[in-house]
Amino acid sequence: MPRDPECLFCRIIAGEIPSKKVYEDAEVFAFEDIRPQAPVHLLIVPKEHIPTVADVPAGWPVMGRLVETANRLAKEKELIFGYRVVINCRADAGQEVFHLHLHLLGGRKFSWPPG
Ligand code: AMP
Ligand code: ZN
Repeated sequence: MPRDPECLFCRIIAGEIPSKKVYEDAEVFAFEDIRPQAPVHLLIVPKEHIPTVADVPAGWPVMGRLVETANRLAKEKELIFGYRVVINCRADAGQEVFHLHLHLLGGRKFSWPPG
């Protein structure tokens, strides 16, 4: 899907809104969450505008690259005791920004089930 000029994360990727970038390549962008819920809280997003995980096309290779990036960043941040990768989908899950993103959370213990 083309870039959405109204989308917060498309604007962050384009550099129109500042962010604390931690990684970028041709397909993937990662930055610090502005309201961190854990000592490490990063957002990993595709450069392509995909609104939700429900919109991910079957076999879309970038999905794997997003997961690889989360794993690599977790290693770089030395989250040796574990971490959580979260994708919220639509209203019931609390999705606020409708541009696909993986939350990488770590540096503390998390409870299960999530609230
Ligand atoms: P979600 O609820 O899964 O849609 O998550 C959206 C996330 O984006 C939240 O954790 C917000 O704290 C984060 N967020 C919102 N605005 C910004 C911003 N300008 N820079 C970085 N993170 C943001
Ligand atoms: Zn977008």
